[in-house]
Amino acid sequence: MSKQTHAFQAEVAQLLHLVTHSLYSNQEIFLRELISNASDACDKLRFEALNNNALYEDAPDLQVRLSFDKAAKTLTITDNGIGMTAQEAIDHLGTIAKSGTKDFVSKLSGDQKSDAQLIGQFGVGFYSGFIVADKITVETRRAGVKAEDGVRWISGGTGDFEVETLTRAERGTSVILHLREEALEYANTWKLKEIVGKYSDHISLPILMEKEEWKDGELIDPNDEKGGRQPGAMLKTGEWETINKASALWTRPKKDISDEQYADFYKQISRDFEAPLTWTHNRVEGSTEYTQLLYIPSKAPQDLWNRDKKAGIKLYVKRVFIMDEAEALMPSYLRFVKGVVDSADLPLNVSRELLQESRDVKAIREGCTKRVLSMLEDLAKHDKAPESTDGVTDVLSEEDQAQLGQYTRFYAEFGAVLKEGLGEDFGNQARLSKLLRFASSTHDTVSVSFADYKARMKEGQDAIYYITADTLAAAKNSPQLEVFKKKGIEVLLMTDRVDEWALNFVHEFEGTPLQSVAKGAFDLGKLQDEEEKKAAEEAAETFKPVLVKLKEALKDKAEDVRVTSRLVDSPACLVVTDDGMSMQLARMLKQAGQQAPEVKPVLEVNPEHALVKKLDGSVHFHDLAHILFDQALLAEGGLPADPAAYVKRVNALLS
Ligand code: ADP
Repeated sequence: MSKQTHAFQAEVAQLLHLVTHSLYSNQEIFLRELISNASDACDKLRFEALNNNALYEDAPDLQVRLSFDKAAKTLTITDNGIGMTAQEAIDHLGTIAKSGTKDFVSKLSGDQKSDAQLIGQFGVGFYSGFIVADKITVETRRAGVKAEDGVRWISGGTGDFEVETLTRAERGTSVILHLREEALEYANTWKLKEIVGKYSDHISLPILMEKEEWKDGELIDPNDEKGGRQPGAMLKTGEWETINKASALWTRPKKDISDEQYADFYKQISRDFEAPLTWTHNRVEGSTEYTQLLYIPSKAPQDLWNRDKKAGIKLYVKRVFIMDEAEALMPSYLRFVKGVVDSADLPLNVSRELLQESRDVKAIREGCTKRVLSMLEDLAKHDKAPESTDGVTDVLSEEDQAQLGQYTRFYAEFGAVLKEGLGEDFGNQARLSKLLRFASSTHDTVSVSFADYKARMKEGQDAIYYITADTLAAAKNSPQLEVFKKKGIEVLLMTDRVDEWALNFVHEFEGTPLQSVAKGAFDLGKLQDEEEKKAAEEAAETFKPVLVKLKEALKDKAEDVRVTSRLVDSPACLVVTDDGMSMQLARMLKQAGQQAPEVKPVLEVNPEHALVKKLDGSVHFHDLAHILFDQALLAEGGLPADPAAYVKRVNALLS
C-alpha cells in the first residue's frame, strides 16, 4: 500500500484541536493513557492466544518498553501486544468508537479553560499524545500476520493522518511521540520513572526502560593530568530494567495500597474522572476462591437508565484478563458498581455463555452482592451523627466525620436503581428494604427509613402509610394526605418512577404492613375515635341521595362514588381499589407506550366541604359533578380525558 491520506472524523478533529490548543495543567497523563493502551493490547493478545498459541510468535513475554532519543526529540512507547492491521489503525486511530468519549466531546463548551480542566481529568486515550507531541508516528503489526504487512500511521494532530505499509519484524505497536519544544523534559529517565510510579504501578505488565550509567567525560588532553574533561553524561547500557511494580493492584495486600492508589486504579478502570465514593477489597476463600475489588462511584453515569447498560465488572482468571462487563458477576440492580473479580477457579477460556451456568460464578455473584450490600449498610450506619440521648453530643472520630452524609449522596445518585432489587433479588429483599430512604410529610429530605418511620408511629397506628406521586410537590399537597396531617400522622412520600413497581414486591416491613393512602377504603383503625366514626356514618346516610345522582352522572368515569372522612380542605379525591393498579402507574405505562388496563377510580367526596354541600338541588349538578371529578384528577397529577370540556364547564360557572 502506498501512502494514503485520511481525514479524521469530526469529533476527533474537535478533540485534537482542544488537546493541542489548551494550556495543560496535567500534561503527564498522556503516559498513563498510552501505557494503558499498550497494556490493553497485551491483554487482548493473551486472550486471543488462548485459542491460538502461534500468536505469541517467538516472544511470549509481554511487556511495554519506554525509550527516548534526546537528539531526535522523540519518546517511544512500544508494546508487543496484539498490534493493528492497516484497517484497524485507520478505524481506531481516526474515529471515536467509544460512546463515553463521544459524550464527553459533546459536553465540551468551547471555553478553553473549563474544557481543559475537563479533558485533563477525563483523559482522551491515544489522542492525549498530542498534548506533548506535535507529530505522532505509530508503527504497528498485528500478531499473526506477515512482517511485510505492518503499517505506519503519521499525523500532526490536525485535520488528517497518513498511512503506509511497513515491514516490521516485531509484533505489536510503537507509538513515537515527536516532542514539542516545551515538552522535552519527558525525554528523561527520572521523569518517566516518576510518572510510571504515580500512575502505572498497578499495571500487571512489566514496563521496561534501558538502564543508564554515569560515565565521566573523556580527558581532553591525555598528556595533561589535571586537564579538563569533557562533561560527563548518563549513557545507556543496553540493559533493560523493570520500572514498575508489575503486580496487579488487587493482588497486593491492602495495607500496601494507599487510598490514592485505590482511587487512581478506579479512575483507570471506570474512565470516571471523579474519585469513588467508597470501595471494598477482599480475598474470598472457601469452596470458591477469588479476589474482589469493588467500587461505588460518586456520580451516576448518564446512561444509568439504559436497559442495555452493562455491568461494570472486569473478570480476570489468575490475573489474566478475560472480559469487560461481566454481567453474570453482578445483578442488574447493582450495575453501577465498578471493579475487578479475579477468580482462581474458572477456566481461562471461559465464555459468556459458560459464565451464566457456572456454579462458581453463582457463588461469586452472591458473594459480590453481599459485599456491596454490607458496604452500603456501613455507609448508611455512619450517615447521620448519632442523636444524643443525654444532651451530651459525642465527639466524632475523623473517620466517622468523613462518612457523614455519604449514604445520602449515594442514595441521591443510585437509590432508584437499588429499588429494582426489591423485585429482582428476593433473597436480599429484607436487607434492601432497610436501605430504602424516603421523604415524608414531616421530613422534606429523602432520609426517612422504614425503621425511622416505625419508631415515630402513633399509638394505635398499625400501618406504614405512603403515597406515590410524580413529584414531591404533588405528593406533599395531595388531598389524600389531609386527614393524616390533621392528626399528625407521618406519611412517606414516594416520587421515584420505580416506587410503584417496587412496592408490588414489598408489602410490609418487619411485620408492619405498608398501606397506600390512595388505595382502598379509608380506614384509620384505632386512630379514629368512635365519635368520628359515627359522624362519618351519619354523613354518609344523609348524603345517600346525592351519591346516587353523582354515580349516575359520572358512570363513565368513576367506578364508584362514596363519602370519605380522609379529606379536610379538599372537596374530593380519587382512590383505587386495594389491589388495583394506581392511577400514577397506569399513566406511566401509557407514557412508556405499554398496554395498561383502563383504571376506573373511585371518587370520594368530602360531605363537609362547601362545594359538595352545594350539589344538592343545584341546577348545575351535572357540570359540578364533572368538575369535581376532573379536579380530583388534576390534583393528583393526571389530566381530564377531555380538558377542553373541563375548561368550558369551569368558565360557564365563573361567568
Ligand atoms: P480506547 O483505548 O478508550 O479504546 P484510544 O483512543 O486510546 O481509546 O484508542 C483507540 C483504539 O486504538 C483502541 O481501542 C485500540 O483498538 C487501538 N489502540 C490504541 N493503542 C493501541 C496499541 N498500543 N495497540 C493496539 N491497539 C491500540
